[in-house]
Amino acid sequence: MTAPPPQNFYQHWLTLGVAPDDNDDLRLKKAVLTLVTSGIAFLAIFWGALYIYSGYPLSGAIPLSYTVISFSSTLYFFRTKRFAFFCFSQQLLILLLPFLLMWSLGGFANGSVVMIWAIFAPLAALFFIDLKAATRWMFAFLALLLVSALFDHTLADMARPMPSDLNTLYFLMNLGCGFVLIALMLHYFVRDRELAYGRLLESEAHIRELMLTDTLTGVPNRRHLNDRLEMELARQARYDQPLSVILTDIDRFKHVNDTYGHAAGDAVLKAFARTLESSIRGSDFLARYGGEEFVLLLPNTGIEEATALAERMREATRSIHIPETPIGITASFGVTLARRGESMGEVLSRADEAMYQSKSGGRDRVTTLAD
Ligand code: GH3
Ligand code: MG
Ligand code: MG
Repeated sequence: MTAPPPQNFYQHWLTLGVAPDDNDDLRLKKAVLTLVTSGIAFLAIFWGALYIYSGYPLSGAIPLSYTVISFSSTLYFFRTKRFAFFCFSQQLLILLLPFLLMWSLGGFANGSVVMIWAIFAPLAALFFIDLKAATRWMFAFLALLLVSALFDHTLADMARPMPSDLNTLYFLMNLGCGFVLIALMLHYFVRDRELAYGRLLESEAHIRELMLTDTLTGVPNRRHLNDRLEMELARQARYDQPLSVILTDIDRFKHVNDTYGHAAGDAVLKAFARTLESSIRGSDFLARYGGEEFVLLLPNTGIEEATALAERMREATRSIHIPETPIGITASFGVTLARRGESMGEVLSRADEAMYQSKSGGRDRVTTLAD
C-alpha cells in the first residue's frame, strides 16, 4: 500500500524518514516516533527558557542542548533513514535529559519530578523495538538512579531551592506533557494491534480459502465438500427439507489427455467446472470430488427438479468448445436424494452408483436413484 501524498508541513515531516518500501507497520512506527521526539524537542525550548528566566541558567542550558541534539538526530535520520540508530539515540537522549536536569537542580528532593521522562526510554523501547531493548533501558535507568543516590547528599547541599510556585508549574508541565506522550503511545499501540489483527484475519482467511479450494478449477475441493455435506445432512435431518446430490464425471477423459495432452485436459476441466457453476443457484454447492468428477449439493431441491437440472447441465456440457480439443465433450450424471439420518458415505455412494449406471448405459446421460 502506498501512503497518500503529504498535504502540509506536519504530514510532510512525518513522512520524511519513510523509505519507499516500508510497510504500513514501519511507516506508523516512524511517524509516531518522529512526532513524539520532535514534540518533546520543541517543548524543551520553552522549558529551557523558563529555567533561564527563573535564574537557573545551567538547568536551562540542558533542555536547550537536548533540543539541538534531538533535532540533529532527527535530521540525520531523515538523510540516512537509519531508523535503528534514530531509536537508539532518542532513547539515550530521553534517558539522560531528566538525570542531567535532576543533578543540575540538586538531586532527588528538587528534581525528582523530571524523572517522569526517564521512564519513557524503556517504555519507548518496548513500543518501538522489543522486550530485550526495554529491559536494557530499564537497567540503564536503575543504574543511573543508583549513581544519583551515591552523590545525592552532595548535590542537595549545593542546591539552590526552587521557589515552590515554580516547582508546582514544572510539575504540572511535566505531568501534562507526560500524559500527552502516554496517550500518543497508546494510540500507536492500539493502531499497531489493529493492523496486526487485520493482517492475521486476512492471512487466516487466505489459508482457509487455499485449504478448501481446488487450485486448477477454483471451485471448492473435496475437503470443503465433506464439511458442507455434513452440514447440509444435519440441516436436512433437523428441518426435513429435501437435499439432492448430483455426481458427474466427464466421459472418456483419459482419451482427451492421451490425444491432446494434459494441458488440453486441464482446459476441459476448467470449462466443465465453469459450465456446472453457471447452471446452479447461490444456495447450491459445487465441488471437485476427484480427477474429473464433480459433486453438486442442492439443498431444498426435490429429485425431479435435480434431475431436470442435471439434464440441463448435460446439454450445456455438449456445447463446450475448447480450441485445443476439437472433439465434443460429454459427461455422465448420477442424481439422488439424501434420506433422513443417512451418512455422507451412503449418499455419495448411491450418487456414484447412479452415475455408474449412466456410464454403463452408454454415457452422456442422467440416471436418477431416488430410493
Ligand atoms: P469414463 O468415461 O469411464 O469416465 O472414462 P475416463 O477416461 O473419463 O475415466 P478414467 O477414470 O479412466 O480417467 C480419468 C482421467 O482423468 C485419468 C487422469 O489422468 C485424468 N485426470 C485426473 N485429474 C486430472 C487433472 O487434474 N488434469 C488432467 N488433465 N487430467 C486429469
Ligand atoms: Mg471419466
Ligand atoms: Mg472418473
